[in-house]
Amino acid sequence: MPTEREITGLIPQWCPGCGHYGFLSALKKAIVELDLDPANVFLVSGIGCSGRISHYIKVTTFHTLHGRPVPPAVAAKIVNPELNVIAVSGDGDAFAIGISHFIHAARRNADITYVILNNMIYGLTTGQYSPTSLRGQVTKTSPQGNREYPIDGVKIALAAGATFVARGFSGNIQQLVDLTKKAIQHKGFSYLEVLSPCVTFNRIATYQWFREHTIDVNTIEKYDPTDMILVLKTLADLPRDKIPIGLIYIDTTKKPFHEEILKDPSKPISLLDLDPSRYNYEELLKGYV
Ligand code: SF4
Ligand code: MG
Repeated sequence: MPTEREITGLIPQWCPGCGHYGFLSALKKAIVELDLDPANVFLVSGIGCSGRISHYIKVTTFHTLHGRPVPPAVAAKIVNPELNVIAVSGDGDAFAIGISHFIHAARRNADITYVILNNMIYGLTTGQYSPTSLRGQVTKTSPQGNREYPIDGVKIALAAGATFVARGFSGNIQQLVDLTKKAIQHKGFSYLEVLSPCVTFNRIATYQWFREHTIDVNTIEKYDPTDMILVLKTLADLPRDKIPIGLIYIDTTKKPFHEEILKDPSKPISLLDLDPSRYNYEELLKGYV
C-alpha cells in the first residue's frame, strides 16, 4: 500500500484519531469501488480542518474560501456535467457563513454531493462553539455553557428540497462507504452529513457519545426513505437525544439543475469551441447598443 505521502506528497496534518480520517478513507474506497476516473472527480473544500481534505486525496481538487465550496461545485457541474462533483465543508463552514449556498443549491437540485464533516465545534481555531454545538456545552467561547440551540442539517436539507439526504458516522466506515457511493451516484443534490469527532477540542461528542446517541433509521420497521411523510413522522417521533443516521430520504423524480438550464446538456460548455477569434465582437456589441 502506498503511503499518503507517496500518493499526494503530503502527510495529513489532522490529529491522530480525528474523525476526518474515517471519511477520507470511505471516500477513497467509494471512488475505487465505483471505478471513477480520479481526474473526473472534482472535490472542492472550504476552510477548517475539514478543508484540508482536498490536499490528501489524488483527484481534481480546489481549496476555496470559508463557507464557499458550494458555488464553485455547482458551477463546475454546469460547465462540465461529466464530472463527479463533491463539495466538503465543516459544520462552521456549512451552517454559519455558508448556509445560504447550501439551501439554494439544495432547492435547485444541483447535481453535487455536499459532505459536511460535523464535529460540533470549530476545531481549526482550537475549540469555539459552532452552529451544531450542543446547548449547554462548555467551550472556549461558551465558558458558562452554550446558550444557543444546535442546527439540524438533515431537517434543513429536507425543507430546502434536497433529493438525497443521509447521515453517516466516521466510526462506521462500512456504512459510510455505502452512503458515499449512493450520494455520488444520485442525480441531484446529495446531502451527506458525517458525524466526525474532533478528538482534541470536543470532549462531549466523542466516538462513544455518537455510538450511544445515533439510531440507523433503516433499522426501523417499515421505514421507507422515498416516503416524505413517513420520513418526517419518523424524525419527529424519535427521542430528542437520538440522532438519526443512514439513508434518510431519496427522491429520484426531479431533474438535476444543469439539465434544467443547459439548452443541450449533451454539449457542455467545457466541450464548446470558445476560440475568441471565431467571433466578431463588433457585430456582437451592436446588439447591445
Ligand atoms: Fe480533527 Fe479536531 Fe484535530 Fe481538527 S483539531 S484535526 S477536527 S481532531
Ligand atoms: Mg467543526
